[in-house]
Amino acid sequence: RTIDPNLGAQIVADAREHVLYSWSVQSAINPIPVAGAEGRHFWDYDGKRYLDFASQLVNVNIGHQHPKIIQAIKDQADKLCTIGPPMANESRSQLGRMLAEVTPGDLSVSFFTNGGTEANENAVKLARLVTGRHKIIARYRSYHGATHGAVTLTGDPRRWAVEPGMAGVVRAFDPYTYRCPAGHPDPCPVCSGAPHLEEILAYEGAHTVAAIILETVTGTNGIIVPPDGYLQSVREVCDRHGILLILDEVMAGFGRTGKWFACEHWDVVPDILCVAKGINSGYVPLGAMIARGEIIDQVRDRFFPGGLTYAGHPLACASAVASIEAFREEGVVENAAAMGDYFREALGRLQERHPSIGEVRGLGCFWGIELVRDRETKEMLVPFNASGEAAAPVSRVAKAALERGLYLMTHWNVVMVVPPLTITREEAEEGIAILDDVLAIADEYYQE
Ligand code: PLP
Repeated sequence: RTIDPNLGAQIVADAREHVLYSWSVQSAINPIPVAGAEGRHFWDYDGKRYLDFASQLVNVNIGHQHPKIIQAIKDQADKLCTIGPPMANESRSQLGRMLAEVTPGDLSVSFFTNGGTEANENAVKLARLVTGRHKIIARYRSYHGATHGAVTLTGDPRRWAVEPGMAGVVRAFDPYTYRCPAGHPDPCPVCSGAPHLEEILAYEGAHTVAAIILETVTGTNGIIVPPDGYLQSVREVCDRHGILLILDEVMAGFGRTGKWFACEHWDVVPDILCVAKGINSGYVPLGAMIARGEIIDQVRDRFFPGGLTYAGHPLACASAVASIEAFREEGVVENAAAMGDYFREALGRLQERHPSIGEVRGLGCFWGIELVRDRETKEMLVPFNASGEAAAPVSRVAKAALERGLYLMTHWNVVMVVPPLTITREEAEEGIAILDDVLAIADEYYQE
């Protein structure tokens, strides 16, 4: 391992001067200079090791520096580093075939991209092309990407910066049972899916709506698992009105929830599935929009209005082929499911001990801990869209965890537990023990 604090300091100084950081106040950035990583850990130039409970941006599903993927990238680099999208290429064709195998139903044709944002952008294009309609229904508690179209689909406040953005986006509520906008009566019109959507469609004109886009299990905006029946209900509404269902599984896909794809928990097949992140754990940038063969058949004789110089990049595709093989050989999805049982129980125990935990929810290696000041009123520990001082109670938790060697992702009042799917029981226990310690900070704000 390289231990060189001076080099670390130089890297940070250059980063602060010459690199523009995403979603940040530039003067406040203080990145960790990372010297290396392996498995579920990364380390800095002081030799300090961190357990990665965030999988970076919830993308390093297989863990860091998997030897099989590294070898596949090297082999592909020796053979053919790059070739344009109009060509046919071995790793691209092989990946297309493998995605048809691992995805549910007749999802069988992939458009390759550099990441999740572009997958969603192209899903919208395809849905508009197929249906000849223009509106897209998207939910409030969602993140679909950062380009103008995808960030307009995004419901969270990051969309405000580009408004009015892409035309034709209509917003729906989420099945967020803990804070249901409809007060969650039984049966709930929002959390059951159809009644809320039908009302929107009545006002919008169903014949003007091309697609509904959903994160199957919401990620960044709070790890929201829909109640059983919700997704089936949305599928049924789509079918009834000739609307395409686009599932954004950029974060929830590739084993994150303990199944290959989150929609398999509810036996729903979308018309278009968008993936990225866990497809190859980000070893080389890659995403894909995967459509049902039947949908593509409707436009086979028409011009597809989309393209990217690096679509289906050989290095990216080769790394994804190797990653899918490693998932199969090593039982990565099965491990995520087994660890899900552990996390459900371990986080449940934390909830008993920490009054500030309002709700724990998730599946597989995809968990959120929602922190409150009062369980009765559910007052959020930090308010919606809080930053700076208002966000201090949660940033203090994350900082204390980091000092103890645990890297966490947080979003407003939600602390996420989203480690690589290859995490071992011992590593998970180590992380949970640190979480247990640092959640005492959140409890300090609890109003008895
Ligand atoms: N969709 C979801 C659900 C995501 O979580 C993300 C990224 O976090 C994206 C889309 C955008 O993907 P990318 O950053 O790879 O473009």
